[in-house]
Amino acid sequence: MPAGARLDSPAAGMAELQPPYTSQQAVVEAQRCLFCFDAPCIQACPTGIDVPSFIRKIAHGNPVAAARTILSANILGASCARVCPTEVLCEGACVVLSWEGDPVKIGRLQRHATDYVFEQLDVAGDRPGLAEQCSALRILGKPAASSGKRVAIIGGGPAGLGCAAELAQLGHQAVVFEKRPRAGGLNTHGVAVYKMKPATGLAEVELVKSLGVEFRCGVEVGRDISVAQLEKEFDAIFIGMGFGGGLRLGIPGGDLPEVITALDFIEQIHTRPAAEVRVGKCVAVIGGGNTAIDAVTQARRLGAPSATVIYHRGENDLPAYPFEYELAKRDGAQFLFNAAALEILAEEGRVSALRLARTRVNDAGALETVPGSEWVEPFDMVIEAIGQEKQTETLRRHFPALEFDERGAVQCHAVTGRTNLPRVFAGGDCANGGHEVVHAVADGKRAARGIHAMFSGETVTGPVQPSRLGVAGGAFGSGLDYRRRFLEQHSQSANDGVVHG
Ligand code: SF4
Repeated sequence: MPAGARLDSPAAGMAELQPPYTSQQAVVEAQRCLFCFDAPCIQACPTGIDVPSFIRKIAHGNPVAAARTILSANILGASCARVCPTEVLCEGACVVLSWEGDPVKIGRLQRHATDYVFEQLDVAGDRPGLAEQCSALRILGKPAASSGKRVAIIGGGPAGLGCAAELAQLGHQAVVFEKRPRAGGLNTHGVAVYKMKPATGLAEVELVKSLGVEFRCGVEVGRDISVAQLEKEFDAIFIGMGFGGGLRLGIPGGDLPEVITALDFIEQIHTRPAAEVRVGKCVAVIGGGNTAIDAVTQARRLGAPSATVIYHRGENDLPAYPFEYELAKRDGAQFLFNAAALEILAEEGRVSALRLARTRVNDAGALETVPGSEWVEPFDMVIEAIGQEKQTETLRRHFPALEFDERGAVQCHAVTGRTNLPRVFAGGDCANGGHEVVHAVADGKRAARGIHAMFSGETVTGPVQPSRLGVAGGAFGSGLDYRRRFLEQHSQSANDGVVHG
């Protein structure tokens, strides 16, 4: 569905934003790549995908080989192709952007290659023989011989999956504990459907399973199994719990039935037929981040005639990416800046309006409401999109000696993911304070290598294309290894326990 079109049916509104390339379109787009030496797009990718290498394979009509390059660096390459903010990562760094003002469409090419392979594999549901199919296509390298080591992974989201896949390939048995019935984290439950269908996230879980990773879904650590038990049964633990549920505003009227968090709203869209998801006629979305944009765009695409983002600062302060903001505007979303919601009003027990006030930044630099500026605006649904709960308190209960930084994120080594506790590693939102899916995958992968180094004493790096070796100063190629290079260039050992954010 083109952005900005009238949203006539919920099904049309749930169509993915960008149609896939045909094979011919993909080859034509791939031929725009300059195949740069020490390509900046590789450095800009947190998982260090060798972008020119996979694009060259598409240009030569070999999407399977392209997918092999992508998935060997990033097991969630299919979902990252859809949800990564490529405009500020690989495509933002693309040389062609500076030359022509229009970068090579790396994300769409990545999607083309991974979709092609997933269609070949018919990855959906519990498919016996998937491992053999992957092996036949040689999608992922052959796992190393079993080390006999077992690692418990708390959380089946992108960080946990990235860690589990890398551990499995390094020969270690990974067991993922996921409290929800399905693994995949936000990729399965929390991404706007017009960006990515849940089936893509679930297919990736199947791919990780095919590596021999065990999933125990519906099992919550701390409730169904204790940390002490994990410590006894496993040789290491990786914490990849992400964030908790959506934060609440806590204003009067917040308990009315038409008030919902953005995460719950998006999860409903993932778990119910579109026609059964309740959406108002006049929707207020409170917040200004990318999740607020997802919610308002999703509300419009579900047929809300009016949907307005209410943000307490100005347009220039909007934390959402500019391209997300533009998308929402094209989809007919409205924006109300410098306004704060004070109360949700009701008539006959249902949301009828918001009491709002103007905001401003005072001389001391603090945000305040303008006295006497209050007014009432009619709405029949309120979506709160003001962030997610941190897991700090839960983690303190499970790991009383675990150290946190000033943000409440688990403190861990920048390269190895190692925490202050022996045999405990961490990554993803609970450790990086909240970032993109691709950063979580990279964290998980780095921690897997940190765990491997603890088990074996071996350091794993790369993959780095051989043509990029031998450059003065070493191999610049991989965004994944950036932190290691940084520490080495600053004469610090990557394993010396130095902690960076
Ligand atoms: Fe190709 Fe752009 Fe990467 Fe250069 S920066 S290798 S042109 S995708």
